[in-house]
Amino acid sequence: MPRPPSVDALARSLADVGLPHPLLVDAARRAVAAGEPGAARELAADMAGALLQQAVNATGVLLHTNLGRAPLPFTQPARAVTVEYDVASGRRGRRGTSVSELVQRLTGAEAALTVNNGAAAVLLVLAALAAGRPVVVSRGELVEIGGGFRIPDVLAQSGAQLVEVGTTNRTRLADYQAAVERHEPALVLKVHQSNYRMVGFTAAVEVDELAGLGVPVVADIGSGLLDAATPWLAGGPPPWLAGEPAARQTLGRGAALVTFSGDKLLGGPQAGVIAGSADLVQRCARHPLARAVRPGGLVLAAVQQTLLALLARDLDQVPFWKMVSTGPAELRRRAQQVAVSVGRAAEVVDCRAAAGGGSLPGVEIPSVGVAVAGDVTAALRRHRPPVVATARAGRTVCDLRSVDPADDPVVAEALIAALAADLPGVAGGTAGVAGGTAGPGVAGGTAGPGVAP
Ligand SMILES: *Cc1c(COP(=O)(O)O)cnc(C)c1O
Repeated sequence: MPRPPSVDALARSLADVGLPHPLLVDAARRAVAAGEPGAARELAADMAGALLQQAVNATGVLLHTNLGRAPLPFTQPARAVTVEYDVASGRRGRRGTSVSELVQRLTGAEAALTVNNGAAAVLLVLAALAAGRPVVVSRGELVEIGGGFRIPDVLAQSGAQLVEVGTTNRTRLADYQAAVERHEPALVLKVHQSNYRMVGFTAAVEVDELAGLGVPVVADIGSGLLDAATPWLAGGPPPWLAGEPAARQTLGRGAALVTFSGDKLLGGPQAGVIAGSADLVQRCARHPLARAVRPGGLVLAAVQQTLLALLARDLDQVPFWKMVSTGPAELRRRAQQVAVSVGRAAEVVDCRAAAGGGSLPGVEIPSVGVAVAGDVTAALRRHRPPVVATARAGRTVCDLRSVDPADDPVVAEALIAALAADLPGVAGGTAGVAGGTAGPGVAGGTAGPGVAP
């Protein structure tokens, strides 16, 4: 029997996989222990493939939670950052001041505070302003946002007491009035339903009416749309945004505070923002939990860059809004170019993109993509960088609205490689040949991108 190669020599032979030596040793050791030293390379490659990595999002879901939501170009040198330092006075400063001022400028809020994510913003507001006291919420808004974020659980965690009003489908102002009189709540909480929508016999009470109840209204708008007028878009807001609550307008209608995500319609990094009345924001900032959910310099710098870019209308710095505002003619031109590179197997198709990230469900954005017959999504994911596409009705579609134009050649390369892998022996397989591909492979791929907000 041949002696197994030394683990160390085997690990060294895998250097080109690009993992640090100790991880290659792990792979080599496991392969040798299993009596299959030849499998070491595949094990190491699997380890490398499981690392956090860049991917091309061709799903058409612009804010794909599984793919990190808003893409953001951000780099910084290895230098100190003035996270809590006031350069003018040379003294300690307050963390996040510049970001707060930019949020105020963009939303009209009196004050703002940045935390690590939207969930932390809601938790901190409830803990700081309502611990041990009642908070009134409509039964139609006791939602689960995804990733286990359930409003009743967050309320319980904060120490506030939930007072439910109305019914699942209808809540009226009188329901809130009765609860306010009876329970003397600390807050009325209005939650954007985000990922689901009620239709039919429904009623809800808007912020302006709630504001008249004499209790501070906190609106968890989630989406991160700063201003419904989208002054950062030359052409004004696209029609599909019409139903999204926006921070400036919600505060204008009388909400005392709004909470939202930095990586949804704001288009920035994962972060959460609390904005509104200076007195309430200060109480949140002073609560001990604020220390536990404070962001670091990396996040603050990325939020600041995003907010400055929105003010400067520099959409190259906010790719999400660039993707939103790309016209169909431009998408079609790009799709044609990709299709030409791929060859006769590829076809330019109209498709429907979506904002994702908990923005209104069922709202579609017209888009254009490149389709090939059959389900080649697994092969596209094996490309480096992986291309994540959707298989539906017997074909694979790469929606170009969620793809950076600089990545169009990557999509083309991945499609060429996937088609070659899919049709061994049928060199340059034509659409006609691949068109016959129906069966378990196709059905397996029909699941959508699986988007949780
Ligand atoms: C997305 C969302 C949250 C959670 O925000 P994260 O940034 O994902 O933590 C909370 N509330 C609403 C209404 C949301 O849509």
